[in-house]
Amino acid sequence: MRIIFLGPPGAGKGTHAKLLTEHYHIPHISTGDILREASRNGSPLGQKVNAFMREGRLVPDAIVTEIVAERLKQKDAKEGFILDGFPRNRSQAESLDELLSTAGLAADLVIYFDTPEETLVRRLAGRLVCKRCGANYHLVNIPPKVQGVCDLCRGFLTQREDDREETVRKRLLVYQDETAGLVDYYKQSKKLRVVSGDLELHKGQEILVSLFEKEHLIND
Ligand code: AMP
Repeated sequence: MRIIFLGPPGAGKGTHAKLLTEHYHIPHISTGDILREASRNGSPLGQKVNAFMREGRLVPDAIVTEIVAERLKQKDAKEGFILDGFPRNRSQAESLDELLSTAGLAADLVIYFDTPEETLVRRLAGRLVCKRCGANYHLVNIPPKVQGVCDLCRGFLTQREDDREETVRKRLLVYQDETAGLVDYYKQSKKLRVVSGDLELHKGQEILVSLFEKEHLIND
């Protein structure tokens, strides 16, 4: 069950991936989450990538590709994974193909979350993240039980620095310029499936689960 989630920021990739990986016991590998954690810890990696992330630019390919290569070697990724936020351009997609094929593997499915821009902007503007564990919430769609407090770890909820209006606009432009073309890249490999990113969470989950069943990807 090797799945790539493709789509603009705010399409719900991370939220869906987190729920699905709990279900299927495969890791959710989010390059954004890995980079944010490095940044929170102030590690050398975090210091290198801080400015790129704050400004909504892509972190250099060599850095993210190395992170993904290391992460995919870990034991928990042997039976599969959901990759979220990588690849983000053609060069990363080719590196991923190479990484997997060197290990005798290939992605099974690429899910593209097709989402109208107004939905993206609305979601990103209302998104809250836990400062401690990184869990995602939304002021209206996924409110925490107690305002401002994470349901999972009681950490403090805050807006992501790159979810501010200025940076959101920049990230959507970067997506159009660099990432949107990957839809065609994966269409050619016949692995692409399009799912609406504009659905309520439970409906989106239902559709994803039935898609995995249809493709015989379920690990039971
Ligand atoms: P995300 O959480 O996926 O929206 O990513 C947040 C930020 O992390 C992006 O705006 C980039 O600065 C950086 N980032 C995450 N994944 C990648 C990637 N595959 N390539 C380059 N930069 C990335």
